[in-house]
Amino acid sequence: MIVNGREYRRPRTPVAVVCLDGSAYEYIERAIAAGAAPYLQSLVRSKCFRLVSSALPSFTNPNNVSIVTGVPPAVHGISGNFFLDRATGAAVMMNDAAFLRAESILAAFSRAGVRVGVVTAKDKLRRLLGHGVDESTGVCISTEARGVEVYSPALSEEALAEGARLLESAAVDLMYVSTSDYVQHKYEPGDDAANRFYASVDRSLAAMDAAGATLVVTADHGMRAKADETGVPRAVYLQDVLDEWLGPNASRVVLPITDPYVLHHGSLGACAMVYLAAPDGADAVARRIAGLTGIDLAVPRDEACVQFELPPDRTGDIVAFATGDFVIGTRPAEHDLTALDAPLRSHGGRSEQLVPMLSNRPLTLPASRSLRNFDAFDVALNGSG
Ligand SMILES: [Zn+2]
Repeated sequence: MIVNGREYRRPRTPVAVVCLDGSAYEYIERAIAAGAAPYLQSLVRSKCFRLVSSALPSFTNPNNVSIVTGVPPAVHGISGNFFLDRATGAAVMMNDAAFLRAESILAAFSRAGVRVGVVTAKDKLRRLLGHGVDESTGVCISTEARGVEVYSPALSEEALAEGARLLESAAVDLMYVSTSDYVQHKYEPGDDAANRFYASVDRSLAAMDAAGATLVVTADHGMRAKADETGVPRAVYLQDVLDEWLGPNASRVVLPITDPYVLHHGSLGACAMVYLAAPDGADAVARRIAGLTGIDLAVPRDEACVQFELPPDRTGDIVAFATGDFVIGTRPAEHDLTALDAPLRSHGGRSEQLVPMLSNRPLTLPASRSLRNFDAFDVALNGSG
């Protein structure tokens, strides 16, 4: 089966890819050290374990779509939650399957008669990732749609438990399970609540293994602390900065993390897309942005699209990433931080790109081959045996 230019072997035994949202390796490492994750410990110790890079920006939707399509945002088109329509000046939300430019591996196998299961925490992700999956032969569900509280660890725990049940009942041949990063936004690695969560994750993964599945576990992005010692987010409010430099209405900062329904990160992430009224000036403005404290790098669109594999028509005139300790906002008044009940933890930049990839089968891929998180289905279907 060839999907998006890559050949995938049809699963002969059940195959499951699990995306643990926001799981920087430190979460797993600390849970193992606390004795809370014996199954994950066995994977780290004796089987296949690598640290791999996610797609950029290191956000949930671009990476989940990259994983299920096996290609970066330049090919599948989902570069964040929002892009600016230059013709209308409107910020367009792209969490709908209509914005997908590539078929998923799941949809392709479903069409070929393989029983495909998609289990997500959030329902918006189920609609995006389950697009094209035949529900008469397979399963496509979210725990949110089943009534589990969105702002809870249970949303993810139930998704993993459901994935284990689907394998135990031999209901699916190829499965993708994707959790939410509620726990990781709220708790740091090693926190009791985080360890309790990974203990639950661990039990479900062990159950999937016991059901006979080939398992590949990875993450969409990492997560880092973004607040100072007093609990205030370390943020570059880029729209304010640009208004001062260029004057009002000369630029528009679009934050691809912005989500109309979820405000537990206050829409503060580590990536910003800058649109300019005069795009010719992008080189010079990018250089100035790159010089700001808290900015890791700022590059004009063409360079960013090549370097970070982004779709040009859904990318700003400048792409900026924050450093590991910082986030980028627009203006303070546009970020409601009252809903945050813990110091800000967030993601989106290069500093949150490194994630674990674990498998319960020995890898047959050459050790020299560098892997991305969106090679998960390649590893699961072709690279382990
Ligand atoms: Zn995520």
